[in-house]
Amino acid sequence: MDFTFSPEHTALRRMVREFAENEVAPLAMQMDRQHRVPLEMIRRLGQTGLLGVCFPQEYGGMGAGETGYCILMEELGRVCTSTATIVGAHIGIGAMAIHLDGNDEQKRKYLTPLARGEKIAAFGLTESGAGSDAANIRTRAVREGDSWILDGGKVFITNGGHADIITVMAVTDPSLGARGGITAFIVETAWEGFSVAREEDKMGIRGSSTAELVFEELRVPHENVLGKVGEGFITFMKALDMGRLTLGAASLGGAQASLEWAVRWARTRRQFGVELAHKQSVQWMIANMATEIEALRSLVYRVAWMVDTGQPFGQLAAMCKMYGSEVASRAIDMALQIHGGLGLTRDFPIERGFRDARIAEIYEGTNEVQRIVIATNIFREHGVRIRP
Ligand SMILES: Cc1cc2nc3c(=O)[nH]c(=O)nc-3n(C[C@H](O)[C@H](O)[C@H](O)COP(=O)(O)OP(=O)(O)OC[C@H]3O[C@@H](n4cnc5c(N)ncnc54)[C@H](O)[C@@H]3O)c2cc1C
Repeated sequence: MDFTFSPEHTALRRMVREFAENEVAPLAMQMDRQHRVPLEMIRRLGQTGLLGVCFPQEYGGMGAGETGYCILMEELGRVCTSTATIVGAHIGIGAMAIHLDGNDEQKRKYLTPLARGEKIAAFGLTESGAGSDAANIRTRAVREGDSWILDGGKVFITNGGHADIITVMAVTDPSLGARGGITAFIVETAWEGFSVAREEDKMGIRGSSTAELVFEELRVPHENVLGKVGEGFITFMKALDMGRLTLGAASLGGAQASLEWAVRWARTRRQFGVELAHKQSVQWMIANMATEIEALRSLVYRVAWMVDTGQPFGQLAAMCKMYGSEVASRAIDMALQIHGGLGLTRDFPIERGFRDARIAEIYEGTNEVQRIVIATNIFREHGVRIRP
């Protein structure tokens, strides 16, 4: 076993950290207060090549693999969860679906500008009646000659308010359900029939767009079917597996930031004549945070290595997402406790971190859904088929 990062990945981390600290961190508070997506910063991030970090070089990417992508997400998560969310929806699920199941022509036309950061992607799965029950979508696509006509809508779509390209899941044969009746499409938001109905006003990750989208007689050319007709559910679930791993990486960065804030405060804040660092209850919180962060770090980069070496990883990706989001929530909670009353004020980043951390337990499949995935796999290995 070799737990060291390659010189290329070490250099990549240095580059990402520099960008994160110099270009992202100074905007994080303002993005949250103004509820503003920092499109100009995302554009600069694209110019560095980082929005294509894990995609092949022949399609405009950096070719740094899943490990490189986890490094990017960890470093962005450390300074700004909104930015990690924007990048996660763009690379990890939106563009990833094209990377995984697109044909060469689709990759040249769509993945290349996405990898170069010239265009922004989103991932359109959730509907008002289909959240955890993703197979229950109602958006309909009907074949008409060389096109498909899309009618319906999506809710809670990250980057929905400013994306150029959206991978959309729609029902193509209602009689077949998720197995054969759902197809994935690549949709350009400039096309007639696409509109943004509204932006959500959220508790956290306020620097990211979460939008409701409407498709009205939206004509999609047949060449924009992603993968095979009827196999869209599989395409989307594969993309979500990748997204869940890197969500764990973003949570790792968030938890690391909480630890750094907590240590800094415990070293300087004096009560009863000594710094808080000398109080055992504070030491225990720091020790618990650091231990969970190390366990999460090992899990995330082991799974990234499995992806990069072509091994099955779906079950472990669910663990990364579930465990990572809960480690991050516990870490920010303890950091806030160590800051006392000041932790609740807007003078410190803890308050924003606390609001930002919560979403990771919900999106890309709630943690209850991840537990169902994990337990179902375990029981299957022991010959038990879990009933829905
Ligand atoms: C900020 C934000 C960004 C998002 N970005 C995207 C995006 O880019 N693209 C996209 O497609 N979607 C996106 N989503 C949607 C997100 O993935 C869903 O919100 C999530 O999957 C949960 O669905 P729901 O909100 O409808 O909750 P529900 O499915 O209604 O669940 C409500 C509660 O019931 C529990 N529950 C449901 N079913 C079960 C069960 N079988 N067993 C046990 N418990 C269950 C859930 O765990 C949860 O606690 C986003 C959501 C948010 C809030």
